[in-house]
Amino acid sequence: MQSPEAILQTTFGFPGFRGVQRDVVDRVMGNRHTLAVMPTGAGKSLCYQLPAVALEGTCIVLSPLIALMHDQLRAATAIGIRAATLTSADDNRAETLARFRAGELDLLYAAPERATGEGFRNLLRDAKVSLFAIDEAHCVSEWGHDFRPDYRLLRPLLDEFPDVPRLALTATADAHTREDILVQLGIPHEGLIVAGFDRPNIRYHITPRQGTTQQIADLVAEQPGPGIVYVQTRAATEKLAASLSGKGRQVRAYHAGLDPAVRAKNQHDFVASEDMVMVATIAFGMGIDKPDVRFVAHAGLPKSIEAYYQETGRAGRDGEPSVAHLFWGAEDFVRARQRIGEVEPQRQPGERARLSALGALVETGGCRRRILLKHFGEEPAETCGNCDNCLNPPAAIDATETARKFLSAVYRTGQSFGVGHIEAVLLGQSTEKVMQRGHDALSVFGIVDGEEALLIKPVARALQLRDALRTSEHGGLEFGPEARAILKGEQTVDLVLPPKRERRRKR
Ligand code: ADP
Ligand code: ZN
Repeated sequence: MQSPEAILQTTFGFPGFRGVQRDVVDRVMGNRHTLAVMPTGAGKSLCYQLPAVALEGTCIVLSPLIALMHDQLRAATAIGIRAATLTSADDNRAETLARFRAGELDLLYAAPERATGEGFRNLLRDAKVSLFAIDEAHCVSEWGHDFRPDYRLLRPLLDEFPDVPRLALTATADAHTREDILVQLGIPHEGLIVAGFDRPNIRYHITPRQGTTQQIADLVAEQPGPGIVYVQTRAATEKLAASLSGKGRQVRAYHAGLDPAVRAKNQHDFVASEDMVMVATIAFGMGIDKPDVRFVAHAGLPKSIEAYYQETGRAGRDGEPSVAHLFWGAEDFVRARQRIGEVEPQRQPGERARLSALGALVETGGCRRRILLKHFGEEPAETCGNCDNCLNPPAAIDATETARKFLSAVYRTGQSFGVGHIEAVLLGQSTEKVMQRGHDALSVFGIVDGEEALLIKPVARALQLRDALRTSEHGGLEFGPEARAILKGEQTVDLVLPPKRERRRKR
């Protein structure tokens, strides 16, 4: 048998292993069950493809997406690995089975739902299986963000082949999900290998929204080089692209609803361009190989820290300085919470944990990178020197008093008005609405002035983010479960104030 190094060079053409690849391959070749958590682009495929070539028999790769399997198949075949897929989209089934039985396949890709049938089990007994590779292994966890019931059926299959090593792979798993994968797939704790997630050349900025279009226009004006702006809806991509256009920069829109030819052209032009801005939904980016993306902006809250890491990770793959800038609003949290209320009850704890992890990331006055890396199980330094808060530490102040005034005003006006009206009442502004409702007669009328006035909006945002305030179906603010403790003075509200004028350094 050739050594792993020799195969790495002759078959794959790489001079050496990257990061944890060597550790993962060693474990697999030593016949030990393993869970490899490696960020996208770290080279997960090699971790099972190399042993597949080295070991006698066939490596069964269980993968959730047919399209992904076919990409992998093409890439593997191109470098001379003997591989095949067994999916509903393949019409060469008989040939594949014959090759498998004859021991002529290094890799056989199959979907989990297929893999759990009786026919498949019998097939595996007929031939020699060298390794089970379980791709996108987080799908086995209900705690994870992409649970697939089919993955739960894998365990009995794996257990039928106790001597065959298992290699589970994923790019996205927080501590809880990881634990779950180990248990669900019968992998011992010592089998967990986590690659470094840090992307030191990416500078993280996170800012409350305040006229998003202008904020993004400023960012685009300051950042040279290709960039991606993620927005929440298809309509928003085209609208924002239109308003960013005509300022000397090529701007395009991208979303799944565009004509396929237009979509393909926009993507192609972006990859070829040196300064294009792509305004896109998250449909854009998967499988795009563009190393010199200089910035990724989010106009709203991403789905999870994992999604944020993945989407911002499209910046700076060439290792050159790049920027990730997220603009968020309290409404994002309100909407996310509403959506959580609509998912199946058993998935709600996981979803809530994901949202509060995001809340901690946007709310912190400390290092953003530290929060990200801790989320992925690392123990990073207190400060990174390359995020907004490290470069320009924000002032934190105790805003509990203002928060209590705000909550009182919400209460006394009947829990049915928006931030603007509450602000008017607190500032003692005799607007038409205030006069009409007689709110100038309330005890909270005009109890905020001077510097404190500047705290009202950030306080409203903080209260919504903490679920002390919610938006009712009529659009007014009403108390959430956290309101009482703050009103009673049992909980403080500290505010991180963005630096007065944020200076984004140009590259
Ligand atoms: P992942 O599945 O983790 O996102 P891939 O397996 O697709 O990553 O690999 C990402 C890229 O890195 C591919 O282009 C692959 O050829 C390359 N790559 C993987 N391992 C190595 C290595 N040891 N040396 C150089 N390039 C590598
Ligand atoms: Zn930092």
